Amino acid sequence: MTRWDAETAVVGLGAWGASALWRLASRGVDVVGFERFTPGHALGSSHGHARVLRLACPEHPGLVPLARRSMELWTELEDAGRESLLLTSGGLAVGTESGPVAGGALRAARDHGVRVRTFTASALRFQYPRHTGVPAHHIGVYEPSAVLVRPERAVRATVAAAEEAGARVFTDSRVTRLEPVPGGVHLHTAQRSVRVRQAVLTAGAWLTGLMPELPLETVRRPVAWFRPFERDSGFEVDGFPAFTRELEDGRVLWGHGAQGGYDVALGLNDGGVAAKPVDPEDTDRSVTSEDWSELGRILPVKVPGLDPLPARVALSTRTRTPDGRFLLGHPGGDRRLLVAGGENAHGFGYAPGIGEALADLVRGGTPALPLDSLSPDRFR
Ligand SMILES: Cc1cc2nc3c(=O)[nH]c(=O)nc-3n(C[C@H](O)[C@H](O)[C@H](O)COP(=O)(O)OP(=O)(O)OC[C@H]3O[C@@H](n4cnc5c(N)ncnc54)[C@H](O)[C@@H]3O)c2cc1C
Repeated sequence: MTRWDAETAVVGLGAWGASALWRLASRGVDVVGFERFTPGHALGSSHGHARVLRLACPEHPGLVPLARRSMELWTELEDAGRESLLLTSGGLAVGTESGPVAGGALRAARDHGVRVRTFTASALRFQYPRHTGVPAHHIGVYEPSAVLVRPERAVRATVAAAEEAGARVFTDSRVTRLEPVPGGVHLHTAQRSVRVRQAVLTAGAWLTGLMPELPLETVRRPVAWFRPFERDSGFEVDGFPAFTRELEDGRVLWGHGAQGGYDVALGLNDGGVAAKPVDPEDTDRSVTSEDWSELGRILPVKVPGLDPLPARVALSTRTRTPDGRFLLGHPGGDRRLLVAGGENAHGFGYAPGIGEALADLVRGGTPALPLDSLSPDRFR
């Protein structure tokens, strides 16, 4: 009879895997986690000093309950630790009333009773004068409950909470091979092999190395930090809250004001050359001017008052699916494997809720999620 080393393994301890590890361990599951680097590192997606969590997320209006649960769990984690993980910043969505950004936020808020405030373009210009050039037919939807999560600290705190609850963690341990065996999976790293009944795969951009058949594409995603020309210029996060803003050409500008010693963070969704697919194993994260020059070009018109030469630029990877939704489930119905990925640049805030859903699935339960629409097999 096979002897198992643990009930469950989690492969990849970024935001999603760390959360799965925590929620599994806190339910008493014998779980072991593998991370190829060190939790909180800057080579995947779960870093960059701040990640936004809004309840009325425009891109995922059906996931408001998941966002609410995640907010509770982040708060629980923060209360249990000694570090501050969350900053209530508020969140602003700007665009047309029927469009994906402001319209999406408004629909999510109305459908799920999230408190928001709406602004006409002129009221928006008055309330948030740092946003200029907002067309008259655009509106603003402000959600006061939106928070910024500090990603590096949050990942480390989640792994620590999992370990306190009994999880075993191997860092600097890359899982190089998954070997399905009757009733379980053997995981191989350079240092050891571990036999488990079920493996949860949360390897972010590297998921395709473990499961090449998954419909995932990895893209570079730069974030640039810009410095105001003047001090006290209204660019602190309370006057310039986290925002996503639809531009006239369909691109989306996002960012948030200065906080925690960092300048004003800005990025563009899928704008230009930076969105070309890359090989996640290529760890060259060097920045070129192509990563920020387009931002620098539009800033004087859209957000004047910032030096268009960034003070700092950081690169992350993000992983996208053909329909912009997450992947979550047992690939091919194989209950030995559970995949969670394809975060499409919106997954950090939801991480604890995703972790809980993964723990439900491991335990044979049914999470409160639209699982069919997230199935990893839906593109077959
Ligand atoms: C620039 C940018 C801005 C973003 N802004 C937001 C935001 O404001 N709000 C929001 O909610 N989301 C945001 N996101 C998305 C969010 O950051 C991601 O959804 C989230 O971090 C994904 O976490 P993950 O755990 O799936 O992936 P990752 O963080 O990449 O974690 C995967 C982990 O697996 C490990 N790993 C990989 N292969 C192996 C292996 N073989 N063996 C062991 N370990 C392995 C990696 O080292 C890594 O630690 C943003 C993303 C980017 C890039």
